Amino acid sequence: MSGRFVIFTDLDATLLDHRTYSYRAALPALRMVKKRGIPVVICTSKTRTETETVARELGLKHPFIVENGGAIFIPSGYFPGSYYKRARIKIIKKEGYEVIQLGVPYLRLRSVFKTMRKKFGLKMVGFGDLSVEEIAMVTGLGQKEAELARRREYDEPFFCEHGSEFGLIQSIGHQDKTKTKIKASINDAQSRKIILGQNLRQEGPKEREKLLRKMKAVARSQGLRITVGGRFFHLTGHNDKGRAVRILKKLYRLGPGKIVTIGLGDSENDWPMLRAVDLPVLVARPDGRHLEILETGKQLFRTSRPGPEGWTEAVNFLLGLQKYVSGQTGPAAKKIKRR
Ligand SMILES: [Mg+2]
Repeated sequence: MSGRFVIFTDLDATLLDHRTYSYRAALPALRMVKKRGIPVVICTSKTRTETETVARELGLKHPFIVENGGAIFIPSGYFPGSYYKRARIKIIKKEGYEVIQLGVPYLRLRSVFKTMRKKFGLKMVGFGDLSVEEIAMVTGLGQKEAELARRREYDEPFFCEHGSEFGLIQSIGHQDKTKTKIKASINDAQSRKIILGQNLRQEGPKEREKLLRKMKAVARSQGLRITVGGRFFHLTGHNDKGRAVRILKKLYRLGPGKIVTIGLGDSENDWPMLRAVDLPVLVARPDGRHLEILETGKQLFRTSRPGPEGWTEAVNFLLGLQKYVSGQTGPAAKKIKRR
Protein backbone atom coordinates (compact mmCIF):
# COMPACT_ATOMS: atom_id res chain seq x y z
CA MET A 1 0.00 0.00 0.00
CA SER A 2 1.49 3.35 -0.92
CA GLY A 3 0.64 6.84 0.24
CA ARG A 4 1.16 9.08 3.22
CA PHE A 5 0.88 7.19 6.46
CA VAL A 6 -1.03 8.53 9.47
CA ILE A 7 -0.77 6.56 12.74
CA PHE A 8 -3.60 6.63 15.28
CA THR A 9 -2.64 5.14 18.62
CA ASP A 10 -4.10 4.33 22.00
CA LEU A 11 -1.86 5.05 25.00
CA ASP A 12 -2.51 2.76 28.00
CA ALA A 13 -1.24 -0.78 27.38
CA THR A 14 -0.49 0.15 23.76
CA LEU A 15 2.11 2.92 23.38
CA LEU A 16 2.55 2.98 27.17
CA ASP A 17 3.30 -0.04 29.33
CA HIS A 18 0.20 -1.16 31.26
CA ARG A 19 1.99 -1.18 34.61
CA THR A 20 4.80 1.37 34.40
CA TYR A 21 3.29 3.78 31.80
CA SER A 22 6.71 3.79 30.13
CA TYR A 23 7.04 4.28 26.36
CA ARG A 24 10.75 3.55 26.34
CA ALA A 25 10.43 0.34 24.31
CA ALA A 26 8.70 2.29 21.52
CA LEU A 27 11.24 5.13 21.30
CA PRO A 28 13.36 3.77 18.40
CA ALA A 29 10.23 3.16 16.31
CA LEU A 30 8.86 6.58 17.26
CA ARG A 31 12.11 8.22 16.21
CA MET A 32 11.95 6.45 12.84
CA VAL A 33 8.31 7.50 12.37
CA LYS A 34 9.16 11.13 13.17
CA LYS A 35 12.10 11.08 10.80
CA ARG A 36 9.79 9.96 8.02
CA GLY A 37 7.36 12.79 8.85
CA ILE A 38 4.52 10.42 9.69
CA PRO A 39 1.93 12.00 12.01
CA VAL A 40 1.27 10.09 15.24
CA VAL A 41 -2.20 10.97 16.51
CA ILE A 42 -2.81 9.94 20.12
CA CYS A 43 -6.32 8.54 20.57
CA THR A 44 -6.97 7.84 24.23
CA SER A 45 -9.42 7.80 27.12
CA LYS A 46 -7.06 10.10 28.99
CA THR A 47 -7.87 13.76 29.58
CA ARG A 48 -6.57 16.67 27.56
CA THR A 49 -3.99 17.70 30.15
CA GLU A 50 -2.70 14.15 30.57
CA THR A 51 -2.43 13.71 26.81
CA GLU A 52 -0.68 17.06 26.41
CA THR A 53 1.96 15.91 28.87
CA VAL A 54 2.65 12.67 26.97
CA ALA A 55 2.62 14.45 23.59
CA ARG A 56 5.07 17.05 24.87
CA GLU A 57 7.41 14.39 26.24
CA LEU A 58 7.32 12.52 22.94
CA GLY A 59 7.75 15.73 20.94
CA LEU A 60 4.50 15.14 19.04
CA LYS A 61 2.93 18.25 17.53
CA HIS A 62 -0.05 16.61 15.88
CA PRO A 63 -3.77 16.55 16.66
CA PHE A 64 -4.88 14.30 19.52
CA ILE A 65 -8.15 12.68 20.53
CA VAL A 66 -9.06 12.64 24.22
CA GLU A 67 -11.56 10.98 26.56
CA ASN A 68 -12.68 8.23 24.19
CA GLY A 69 -13.42 10.55 21.30
CA GLY A 70 -15.00 13.27 23.48
CA ALA A 71 -12.97 15.93 21.72
CA ILE A 72 -10.27 16.41 19.10
CA PHE A 73 -7.57 18.99 19.80
CA ILE A 74 -5.81 20.28 16.69
CA PRO A 75 -2.88 22.69 17.12
CA SER A 76 -3.95 26.04 15.62
CA GLY A 77 -2.96 26.32 11.98
CA TYR A 78 -2.16 22.58 11.63
CA PHE A 79 -4.77 22.29 8.87
CA PRO A 80 -5.56 25.26 6.60
CA GLY A 81 -8.70 27.03 7.89
CA SER A 82 -10.53 26.26 4.62
CA TYR A 83 -10.42 22.50 5.35
CA TYR A 84 -12.98 22.78 8.15
CA LYS A 85 -15.38 24.56 5.88
CA ARG A 86 -14.86 22.07 3.09
CA ALA A 87 -15.32 19.10 5.46
CA ARG A 88 -18.30 20.86 7.14
CA ILE A 89 -16.75 20.53 10.57
CA LYS A 90 -17.52 22.95 13.38
CA ILE A 91 -14.55 24.04 15.44
CA ILE A 92 -14.08 26.11 18.58
CA LYS A 93 -10.86 28.07 18.98
CA LYS A 94 -9.48 27.47 22.45
CA GLU A 95 -6.07 28.02 24.01
CA GLY A 96 -3.94 27.47 20.92
CA TYR A 97 -6.13 24.70 19.53
CA GLU A 98 -8.91 24.24 17.07
CA VAL A 99 -11.23 21.96 19.05
CA ILE A 100 -13.88 19.63 17.67
CA GLN A 101 -16.27 18.72 20.49
CA LEU A 102 -18.09 15.40 20.19
CA GLY A 103 -18.83 14.37 23.77
CA VAL A 104 -21.45 14.97 26.47
CA PRO A 105 -20.49 17.38 29.29
CA TYR A 106 -19.09 15.76 32.42
CA LEU A 107 -21.81 17.06 34.79
CA ARG A 108 -24.49 15.21 32.86
CA LEU A 109 -22.38 12.01 32.90
CA ARG A 110 -21.99 12.24 36.68
CA SER A 111 -25.70 12.70 37.17
CA VAL A 112 -26.53 9.55 35.16
CA PHE A 113 -23.73 7.66 36.93
CA LYS A 114 -25.26 8.41 40.32
CA THR A 115 -28.69 7.30 39.11
CA MET A 116 -27.22 4.00 37.90
CA ARG A 117 -25.47 3.39 41.19
CA LYS A 118 -28.75 3.83 43.00
CA LYS A 119 -30.65 1.62 40.58
CA PHE A 120 -28.22 -1.29 40.74
CA GLY A 121 -27.37 -1.04 44.41
CA LEU A 122 -23.88 -1.85 43.35
CA LYS A 123 -20.73 -0.37 44.72
CA MET A 124 -19.67 1.65 41.72
CA VAL A 125 -16.90 4.17 42.11
CA GLY A 126 -16.20 6.85 39.52
CA PHE A 127 -13.24 9.21 39.25
CA GLY A 128 -15.59 11.96 40.41
CA ASP A 129 -15.91 10.15 43.78
CA LEU A 130 -12.18 9.91 44.34
CA SER A 131 -9.49 12.15 45.73
CA VAL A 132 -6.24 12.70 43.83
CA GLU A 133 -4.50 10.23 46.18
CA GLU A 134 -7.13 7.57 45.48
CA ILE A 135 -6.86 8.07 41.72
CA ALA A 136 -3.09 7.71 42.05
CA MET A 137 -3.64 4.45 43.89
CA VAL A 138 -6.09 2.82 41.45
CA THR A 139 -4.24 3.93 38.34
CA GLY A 140 -0.68 3.56 39.59
CA LEU A 141 -0.05 7.13 38.43
CA GLY A 142 2.06 9.62 40.36
CA GLN A 143 0.34 12.37 42.32
CA LYS A 144 0.89 14.99 39.62
CA GLU A 145 -0.39 12.74 36.82
CA ALA A 146 -3.38 11.70 38.94
CA GLU A 147 -4.30 15.35 39.35
CA LEU A 148 -4.36 15.68 35.54
CA ALA A 149 -6.34 12.45 35.20
CA ARG A 150 -9.03 13.91 37.43
CA ARG A 151 -9.74 16.89 35.17
CA ARG A 152 -12.40 15.22 33.10
CA GLU A 153 -14.62 16.85 30.52
CA TYR A 154 -16.33 14.08 28.49
CA ASP A 155 -15.76 10.68 30.13
CA GLU A 156 -16.33 9.20 33.59
CA PRO A 157 -14.08 6.17 34.21
CA PHE A 158 -15.41 3.84 36.89
CA PHE A 159 -15.00 0.45 38.49
CA CYS A 160 -17.27 -1.86 40.48
CA GLU A 161 -16.86 -3.92 43.59
CA HIS A 162 -15.56 -7.02 41.79
CA GLY A 163 -12.53 -5.10 40.52
CA SER A 164 -9.20 -5.14 42.28
CA GLU A 165 -9.31 -1.33 42.38
CA PHE A 166 -12.25 -1.50 44.76
CA GLY A 167 -10.19 -3.50 47.25
CA LEU A 168 -7.43 -0.91 47.03
CA ILE A 169 -9.81 1.91 47.80
CA GLN A 170 -11.23 0.01 50.75
CA SER A 171 -7.78 -0.74 52.07
CA ILE A 172 -7.06 2.96 52.45
CA GLY A 173 -10.51 3.56 53.92
CA HIS A 174 -12.28 5.64 51.31
CA GLN A 175 -14.14 7.61 53.98
CA ASP A 176 -16.11 10.46 52.65
CA LYS A 177 -19.68 11.38 52.05
CA THR A 178 -19.69 9.40 48.82
CA LYS A 179 -19.14 6.23 50.77
CA THR A 180 -22.15 6.98 52.91
CA LYS A 181 -24.15 7.60 49.78
CA ILE A 182 -22.98 4.34 48.23
CA LYS A 183 -23.85 2.52 51.43
CA ALA A 184 -27.27 4.13 51.52
CA SER A 185 -28.02 3.10 47.96
CA ILE A 186 -26.91 -0.46 48.71
CA ASN A 187 -29.21 -0.68 51.71
CA ASP A 188 -31.96 0.68 49.53
CA ALA A 189 -31.36 -1.96 46.90
CA GLN A 190 -31.07 -4.76 49.43
CA SER A 191 -34.45 -3.87 50.80
CA ARG A 192 -35.76 -4.34 47.27
CA LYS A 193 -33.85 -7.62 47.01
CA ILE A 194 -31.57 -6.41 44.25
CA ILE A 195 -28.28 -7.56 45.64
CA LEU A 196 -26.52 -7.63 42.34
CA GLY A 197 -23.17 -6.84 43.85
CA GLN A 198 -23.25 -9.92 46.06
CA ASN A 199 -24.43 -12.19 43.29
CA LEU A 200 -21.67 -10.81 41.18
CA ARG A 201 -19.00 -11.75 43.62
CA GLN A 202 -20.36 -15.27 44.06
CA GLU A 203 -21.16 -16.13 40.49
CA GLY A 204 -18.19 -14.74 38.62
CA PRO A 205 -17.69 -13.71 35.00
CA LYS A 206 -21.10 -14.80 33.68
CA GLU A 207 -22.94 -12.63 36.19
CA ARG A 208 -20.54 -9.82 35.49
CA GLU A 209 -21.39 -10.02 31.78
CA LYS A 210 -25.08 -9.95 32.60
CA LEU A 211 -24.71 -6.95 34.85
CA LEU A 212 -22.62 -5.13 32.27
CA ARG A 213 -25.35 -5.71 29.69
CA LYS A 214 -27.91 -4.23 32.09
CA MET A 215 -25.73 -1.25 32.88
CA LYS A 216 -25.19 -0.66 29.16
CA ALA A 217 -28.96 -0.73 28.60
CA VAL A 218 -29.55 1.89 31.31
CA ALA A 219 -26.82 4.10 29.87
CA ARG A 220 -28.37 3.74 26.42
CA SER A 221 -31.79 4.76 27.72
CA GLN A 222 -30.15 7.99 28.90
CA GLY A 223 -28.52 8.63 25.53
CA LEU A 224 -25.14 7.53 26.86
CA ARG A 225 -22.90 4.49 26.51
CA ILE A 226 -20.58 2.30 28.55
CA THR A 227 -17.37 0.93 27.08
CA VAL A 228 -14.75 -1.33 28.57
CA GLY A 229 -11.24 0.06 28.67
CA GLY A 230 -8.04 -1.74 29.63
CA ARG A 231 -8.40 -0.77 33.28
CA PHE A 232 -11.82 0.83 33.83
CA PHE A 233 -15.35 1.04 32.50
CA HIS A 234 -16.12 4.35 30.82
CA LEU A 235 -19.41 6.23 30.76
CA THR A 236 -19.54 8.60 27.80
CA GLY A 237 -21.88 10.14 25.26
CA HIS A 238 -22.26 8.56 21.83
CA ASN A 239 -18.79 9.64 20.92
CA ASP A 240 -16.16 7.01 20.36
CA LYS A 241 -12.62 6.81 19.12
CA GLY A 242 -13.82 5.72 15.67
CA ARG A 243 -15.97 8.78 15.04
CA ALA A 244 -13.09 11.07 15.98
CA VAL A 245 -10.65 9.13 13.78
CA ARG A 246 -13.02 9.36 10.80
CA ILE A 247 -13.23 13.15 11.20
CA LEU A 248 -9.45 13.51 11.26
CA LYS A 249 -9.10 11.18 8.27
CA LYS A 250 -11.44 13.48 6.37
CA LEU A 251 -9.20 16.45 7.18
CA TYR A 252 -5.94 14.65 6.34
CA ARG A 253 -7.46 13.53 3.03
CA LEU A 254 -7.89 17.14 1.98
CA GLY A 255 -4.10 17.36 1.80
CA PRO A 256 -2.11 16.21 -1.25
CA GLY A 257 -1.90 12.50 -2.14
CA LYS A 258 -3.54 9.42 -0.79
CA ILE A 259 -3.38 8.60 2.90
CA VAL A 260 -2.97 5.19 4.51
CA THR A 261 -4.07 4.98 8.13
CA ILE A 262 -2.70 2.65 10.81
CA GLY A 263 -4.50 2.19 14.14
CA LEU A 264 -3.10 0.54 17.26
CA GLY A 265 -5.07 -0.43 20.36
CA ASP A 266 -5.64 -3.23 22.86
CA SER A 267 -9.15 -2.88 24.31
CA GLU A 268 -12.83 -2.86 23.47
CA ASN A 269 -12.89 0.94 23.40
CA ASP A 270 -10.23 0.85 20.67
CA TRP A 271 -12.31 -1.30 18.35
CA PRO A 272 -14.23 1.62 16.74
CA MET A 273 -10.86 3.22 16.00
CA LEU A 274 -9.48 -0.02 14.54
CA ARG A 275 -12.54 -0.34 12.32
CA ALA A 276 -11.99 3.19 11.02
CA VAL A 277 -8.42 2.65 9.78
CA ASP A 278 -6.88 0.86 6.80
CA LEU A 279 -4.39 -1.18 8.84
CA PRO A 280 -5.72 -2.11 12.28
CA VAL A 281 -3.35 -3.52 14.91
CA LEU A 282 -4.52 -5.37 17.99
CA VAL A 283 -1.75 -5.11 20.55
CA ALA A 284 -1.45 -8.09 22.92
CA ARG A 285 -2.82 -7.52 26.43
CA PRO A 286 -0.33 -7.66 29.32
CA ASP A 287 -1.08 -11.38 29.79
CA GLY A 288 -0.15 -12.03 26.15
CA ARG A 289 -3.71 -12.65 24.99
CA HIS A 290 -5.71 -10.49 22.59
CA LEU A 291 -9.09 -8.88 22.88
CA GLU A 292 -11.67 -11.22 21.40
CA ILE A 293 -13.03 -9.76 18.21
CA LEU A 294 -16.17 -11.30 16.82
CA GLU A 295 -16.27 -9.35 13.60
CA THR A 296 -14.00 -10.39 10.80
CA GLY A 297 -13.66 -9.27 7.23
CA LYS A 298 -10.82 -6.86 7.75
CA GLN A 299 -7.20 -7.82 7.84
CA LEU A 300 -6.16 -7.50 11.45
CA PHE A 301 -2.62 -7.57 12.76
CA ARG A 302 -2.08 -9.11 16.16
CA THR A 303 1.20 -8.40 17.91
CA SER A 304 2.96 -11.08 19.89
CA ARG A 305 4.30 -8.64 22.49
CA PRO A 306 2.19 -6.39 24.72
CA GLY A 307 2.37 -2.61 25.13
CA PRO A 308 5.14 -0.49 23.57
CA GLU A 309 7.06 -3.59 22.45
CA GLY A 310 4.03 -4.72 20.47
CA TRP A 311 3.65 -1.17 19.15
CA THR A 312 7.20 -1.26 17.83
CA GLU A 313 6.75 -4.73 16.35
CA ALA A 314 3.66 -3.64 14.38
CA VAL A 315 4.89 -0.22 13.28
CA ASN A 316 8.22 -1.60 12.04
CA PHE A 317 6.40 -4.29 10.13
CA LEU A 318 3.65 -2.15 8.63
CA LEU A 319 5.89 0.67 7.54
CA GLY A 320 7.84 -1.93 5.60
CA LEU A 321 11.31 -1.45 6.97
CA GLN A 322 13.99 -2.26 4.41
CA LYS A 323 14.82 -5.62 5.95
CA TYR A 324 11.27 -6.85 5.48
CA VAL A 325 10.73 -5.25 2.10
CA SER A 326 13.84 -6.94 0.71
CA GLY A 327 12.15 -10.29 1.09
CA GLN A 328 13.73 -11.38 4.33
CA THR A 329 11.39 -12.39 7.03
CA GLY A 330 12.58 -10.84 10.23
CA PRO A 331 11.58 -12.08 13.66
CA ALA A 332 9.12 -9.24 14.15
CA ALA A 333 7.34 -10.09 10.91
CA LYS A 334 6.93 -13.70 11.97
CA LYS A 335 5.45 -12.71 15.26
CA ILE A 336 2.58 -10.78 13.76
CA LYS A 337 -0.21 -13.12 12.83
CA ARG A 338 -2.41 -11.98 10.03
CA ARG A 339 -6.09 -12.65 9.74
MG1 LIG B 1 -5.48 0.67 26.11
